[in-house]
Parts: sequence; C-alpha cells; structure tokens
Amino acid sequence: MAIRTIRIEGDEILNKKSKPVKEMTPRNEKLISDMLETMYDAEGVGLAAVQVGILKRIVTIDVGEGPIILINPEIIEEDGEQRGYEGCLSVPGKRGIVTRPNHVKVRAQNEKMEFFEIEGTELLARAFCHEIAHLDGELYISRVEGSLEDVEYEEE
Ligand code: ZN
Repeated sequence: MAIRTIRIEGDEILNKKSKPVKEMTPRNEKLISDMLETMYDAEGVGLAAVQVGILKRIVTIDVGEGPIILINPEIIEEDGEQRGYEGCLSVPGKRGIVTRPNHVKVRAQNEKMEFFEIEGTELLARAFCHEIAHLDGELYISRVEGSLEDVEYEEE
C-alpha cells in the first residue's frame, strides 16, 4: 500500500466526471488499498478516487464502523433531511453547513464487481452523498449555506 497525494481545491481534476469501472484489475485493487491508506492517514471519513487524481467511480468510506468500498455507486433512495457541518480532505482547514438527506440507500459494486445495496443514516448518509458527488465533479463547497469557516484545531 502507499499513501497518495490528495488533490486540493483549485486542481481542475476535482471538477471532472469520473468514469465507470468495468472490471476489477490488479491496478484497481492497488488503487483501492492506497485510497484506504490515504484516507486513514489523513483522518478522513471518506475519499473518492478523483481526490487522488484518478477519474474512476470508486469511493472509500469509514465513519468508525469499518471500511466501505463502493464501485460505481448510485443513490437509489433518499429521504429526510439533516443540516450540519461538512468538510473535505480536498478543502483542508475549512468547514461549512450543508443540508443532506438523513437516510440514503446506495446501490454499488464490491471488489468482486458484485452488486449490493447499503443504507446509511446521519453521518454515513452524509458521507455517501458527499463522496458520490465527487464522482460527478461536485465539491460540497458549492452547497454550503452561508460561508465557509476556518476549522479551529485544539492544541494538544
Ligand atoms: Zn470531499
């Protein structure tokens, strides 16, 4: 595994649409394991392949319940509403208020390219929406209500 460089807002690749993954290859397997390592190293709860410069529809998420790998994910159901802070590894040191559905159902493929469905509420639903939007070239900052804020880090 290897930690990859996270692309930062202003890098135009972040506004591009990612392409569907057609088959699992050693190259894609390596990308997924690198994405997980990069996400954990950066202490993020989610990462899309485009954030490491690869325009493939692959997302990794871990909201504290173990890793979730989504290949070619699509939101097939959503309901409710949640309003809260959101941040992004590609927009370091910032956060902003975004309204998202409170419950989301996603259909995706796993590392064996088998279809499955997964549901999430609250933070997991937010992560699904945020990461899948990356695959269509959308950053959360386009949905922020009010202004972006600086995140204040507490000193240890
Ligand atoms: Zn993000």
